[in-house]
This record gives sequence, C-alpha cells and structure tokens, in this order.
Amino acid sequence: MRVVGDALEVIKRYPLCDHCLGSLFARLGRGLGNEARGAALRRSIIMELDRMFKEGEISKEEMEKILSNFDSDEMDELAEKMNLKLERRRCYVCGGRWEELVEEWARKVAEKLKEYEFDGFLVGCSDCGGMVERQREIISAFRLPYAETVKNSFKREVGKRVKEILGKEPDFEDPEIVAIMDLREGKVELQIKPVFVYGRYKKVVRNVSQSKWKYPYSVEEALERALKDFGGEEVILHGSGREDVDVRALGTGRPFVAEIRRPKRRRLPIEGREYFDGKVYFKFERYVSRDWVERIKTDEAKKEKVYLAIVYVPEGIEDEELKGLEEFFKDAVVSQRTPRRVLHRRADLVRERKVFWVKARRLNSKSFEALIKAQGGLYIKELVSGDGGRTEPSFSSFLGKEARCASLDVVWISEPS
Ligand SMILES: [Zn+2]
Repeated sequence: MRVVGDALEVIKRYPLCDHCLGSLFARLGRGLGNEARGAALRRSIIMELDRMFKEGEISKEEMEKILSNFDSDEMDELAEKMNLKLERRRCYVCGGRWEELVEEWARKVAEKLKEYEFDGFLVGCSDCGGMVERQREIISAFRLPYAETVKNSFKREVGKRVKEILGKEPDFEDPEIVAIMDLREGKVELQIKPVFVYGRYKKVVRNVSQSKWKYPYSVEEALERALKDFGGEEVILHGSGREDVDVRALGTGRPFVAEIRRPKRRRLPIEGREYFDGKVYFKFERYVSRDWVERIKTDEAKKEKVYLAIVYVPEGIEDEELKGLEEFFKDAVVSQRTPRRVLHRRADLVRERKVFWVKARRLNSKSFEALIKAQGGLYIKELVSGDGGRTEPSFSSFLGKEARCASLDVVWISEPS
C-alpha cells in the first residue's frame, strides 16, 4: 500500500484538506477528482491508524495528533463517535479555503467577462497567492511523482465554475479571452484577442494623414469613430501602403485592415457597412484573420496602382507632346533614386519600377491631367518632375522642359494577393 503509506507520511507532518491531499496523488486513479481521491486516502488512513492503535503500535495521543491534521468537516463527527480529542488544523496549502477560493474567484472572473462578447475562454493564474510554493515544498520533501500542481487544479476548478455561471465553453486551443487571476493582488486581468476587419478607405480631401500624427485629422481617427460600437480600447489602421498627406485616395479606395484591440463586441454585422464623415469614407468588407496585417503590408512592388495627376508645365504644352508622352511611357521601366524629399527617412538607393500606361488630356495651355498606372513603390511626383535627374526617364526629361505635379490622387489599388 505505497500510496496510503506515502499519504500517511505526508499527513503526519502537514495538515491538509481532502482536495490538497488528493492533488498530491492526482495522476493515480484518473477521473476520480482530487476531492474524492483525498477523502479515500483520509478514510484509509483513519482505519489504518485505528488498527495500529488497537494493536498497540501507537498511543491514543499519537493517533489524535495525526488525525488533527485532516482538515475536513467529517472529522468532527468522527471524533465524537471514536471518542477522540482532535484539534483541527487548517490546510497548509489552501488554508482550508479551497471551495471558498474557487467560488470567490469564479465570481470575480465571471463578473469581468460579462462585459465582453466572446465564445471560448480560458482561465489562467499568474500568482496563486503562495499555494504553489507551499505545495511544492511538500512535493519535493516527499518526492511525490504523481502530484498535480495546485495552480493547474485551481485554474480548472475556477474554469468549470465560470462555465456554469456564464453558460460559456472553455477553449484550450484558441480562446478569444483569457482571464488571468492574481491572488496576491486580488485582481483579474483579461487578455482579449483583437478583431480584424478588412475594408477600403477613400480620402476625399487633402491634408489628412493616414496615422495619428502632426496633422489635425487622420484616417486612423476617422476609423476609430467608424468602429466605435465595437467598444475597443484602440483601433489601429494597417494600410496597404500610404499616400502623402496632400494626396487624396479616391476611386475604389485603399485596402486596409482595421485592428480593434480589446473589443467589447466582436460579432457586429460588418459586411458592406459604410461610413463617411465628409473627409474620409470607409467601406468594410469582412472579418479577417491576424495574418492579413502582414498580407496587406506585402511588398509594395507586387501591387499595382492608378493615379490621377494634374501636371503644370510653365513653358506650355501641346496635344502632340501628350500623344508622344503616352506612347513613350507604355510599359516603360523607370529608374528612380530615392527622392530627396524622403531621404531623411528612406535609404538612398535606386529602384526600377514599371509604368504600365499613361493617359493624358490637356486642360489648358499650361497644364494637363494624367492617369498613370504603375507598379507600387514608384514615386509619382518625381516621375513627373524628374527630381533633378534622380528619376529617369520622367515627364520632364521626356518633354525637355519643367513639369511638376500640381495635385495627385490615388484612384485604384490592387487587392492584396
Ligand atoms: Zn487545501
């Protein structure tokens, strides 16, 4: 009877409740539950001690001393029937508060979780208030290889109770919410999976930046308002590239993924939802997984974009020249050294990017508009101006005179692949 023998050695030294005694042998007799396991050991030990006493192996006092270490209500009744004097001692691991602790923390966790919409949850414990350390002391003193950590059983028991209270299923693989208990601090902290929504935005005015920055308004701020009914603590915009602050995004708009952090709601109908505040327009298409954040930021060079530029030519422009420009830039490869205006934040190197086509229309004697379809990553303002020879060929070098971009809009961006 090794198991009962070991349990007897433990109980001679440490007062324990049924749960904490059972947890020391948890991996034996699977399915019993620690409480039942502990009760079985306790009852076996009572009988064994009674035999030892009756056969004169121990004194009544010795038996009473050991039995006082069982922190169980059943012992009071037994003491009376066996005519023993017991001084019940509190469980060394949980202080005799196991059920109370499970109930108290399950209530705390459920209260916190109630505010959130979720399916699968998980309960964790960052600090079990000393229970883990006290149990570890016993396990190593007696070398008990079949023990289950008290942290594990506490998380499980609280999880089961939360399930009952909220009627929600735990999810051990990929929970939407993890409730982390800190018994020392008396706090529950929630780790909440963000929600990701794919959509496209249009910026119909200039001087709006993409992310919150030094400009008075940003696409990101507009996005926060557009998605405020998710009750998230933060909304992050992951754009498929970004336009300059003075560039509008029109046409079909720019693809993006909105990351809503710590959302209270996560199942709002989103498909086809639109939002427009006079400056920024959003169309939300669907929920996506986290990997879309990377996908949307994929290599600029793999994207294709269409721009609308208004080009100013101080020396004047003729229809004939525009025809020539269209022909010249059909499937043209442009070699572009990092523009001077972005050198402070980009490495100085030469990139080759393709222009697929240009469609130009004269507006007046000194300006024309150009629709330009190009590979992502080509700086269009410099494609027009030539940037002092750093972009070659350019509209300027082809025309043999100064040309500059008076305004620029993005009108189409390819879907992320
Ligand atoms: Zn206990």
